[in-house]
Amino acid sequence: MVPLYLRAHSDDNVAIIVDAEGVRAGARDGGGLTVREFIPQAQKVALTSISAGDPLVRYGQTIGYANRVIEPGRWVREEMIDLPAAPSLDDLPLATAVPAPLPPVDGDTFGYTFEGYRNAEGSAGTRNLLGITTTVQCVAPTVEYAVRRIKSEILPRYPNVDDVIAVTHGYGCGVAIDAPDAAIPIRTLRHIARHANFGGESLVVSLGCEKLQPGRLLSPDLPVLEDVIRLQHAHGFAESVAQILRAAERKLEILNRRRREPCPVSQLIVGLQCGGSDAFSGVTCNPAVGRAADLLVRAGATVLFSEVTEVRDAIHLLTPRCINADVARALIREMRWYDQYLARGSADRSANPTPGNKRGGLANIVEKALGSIAKAGSSAICGVVGHGERVQERGLIFAATPASDFICGTEQLASMNLHIFTTGEGSPYGLSMVPVVKISSRTALAEKWHDLIDIDAGRIATGRATIDDVGREIFEFVLDVASGRKKTWAEHWGLGNALVPFNPGPVT
Ligand code: CA
Repeated sequence: MVPLYLRAHSDDNVAIIVDAEGVRAGARDGGGLTVREFIPQAQKVALTSISAGDPLVRYGQTIGYANRVIEPGRWVREEMIDLPAAPSLDDLPLATAVPAPLPPVDGDTFGYTFEGYRNAEGSAGTRNLLGITTTVQCVAPTVEYAVRRIKSEILPRYPNVDDVIAVTHGYGCGVAIDAPDAAIPIRTLRHIARHANFGGESLVVSLGCEKLQPGRLLSPDLPVLEDVIRLQHAHGFAESVAQILRAAERKLEILNRRRREPCPVSQLIVGLQCGGSDAFSGVTCNPAVGRAADLLVRAGATVLFSEVTEVRDAIHLLTPRCINADVARALIREMRWYDQYLARGSADRSANPTPGNKRGGLANIVEKALGSIAKAGSSAICGVVGHGERVQERGLIFAATPASDFICGTEQLASMNLHIFTTGEGSPYGLSMVPVVKISSRTALAEKWHDLIDIDAGRIATGRATIDDVGREIFEFVLDVASGRKKTWAEHWGLGNALVPFNPGPVT
């Protein structure tokens, strides 16, 4: 048997096993490497003789130090690797290797377009949705009840509206609303309430006595009073629901007049993230998404990459790529803020990889981060926004979020109108407000989850497709989905994870 393994960079002294069933002891490749023990798929094999204290190199970078002698052909397990210190934030190169602007796609001077819903304030929707925002968790079940009624009794009369969304969440009361960190969940929810897919029609349901008053949620420009319903002003449950239904119908009449029209790709804001990553993610789905990100940037779109704890250990590779020193300093500011946030909770970056990540061959956060940043492609980093802030710049942007899938997705919703999610172990994740395109790192997952995974990037590992092929496929699929010509599997099944605003502030 000839072992099939993937070496990500010519300097690497470890590689990952590609064979779906793993590789047995005695397997030998043409280069003289003999595998010394059974090694499962996605786990690492030593390519050279490694001494205790030697760096273990993957992606051309040190992912850790060997804490024992490792012979060539041995399985390099997590416990053999000591975690290196995180790169210092004090003397990083700032904007020293800014990539040149990428040429337009295919030399197309007219620019790519997609069929979207234009909004008065300049954004564009990828879907036409009625969003009912809530100020506090107390009203969530009432709004969810009302939304079930709207969908069955009213929505069928408004065929141009795709769906009705209850924007419910766990925030709004029982929190230190004036604490500095409360700004993060509040602005996240403010931007979500005015999402591009809601067509500028704000409908807000409030309880009445909660800390997050409607004026505070929506300030500085509170919409007209009739768009805010306070349940404590209504006489009982039935009247509360009837009020929501009446207001929803008025909004549906307006939204039903919206039509798709050609929009420049500059109105697409695509959020990227990974969840349930494995050792293939960094060589298949994430680089393919990186290639798609480059194409999107070249076509004029904005692309967000996020997940602070999965960027932190690769920060020295990112600050040189920032368009100027101010953007690099903003990137470092977000890393430092998160270091301090973790330290306050007596945690550090080693808290990140999950048991599933480790089963999937990711030994530690350094290896995970090096694979994760491949999603960001190769263009210059043009801007940085803090947690839950809305992006103003175009191009590749770092939008600070935790790595947690549902919190990252919620924060990216402050800006994005389409989401790309890569996965190795698999997650049926979805969002109600935007289409979520799911891409697998391995063909085995795409086959097992044939009705959940939209694109299989595992073909790259076995040589059946190139990173360019899959990147192009993702780019074209994104334009089709944004235009409503295609639906993602998550949309097909109606999968919408809960919104979970990041609240680093105190709960009272
Ligand atoms: Ca994630």
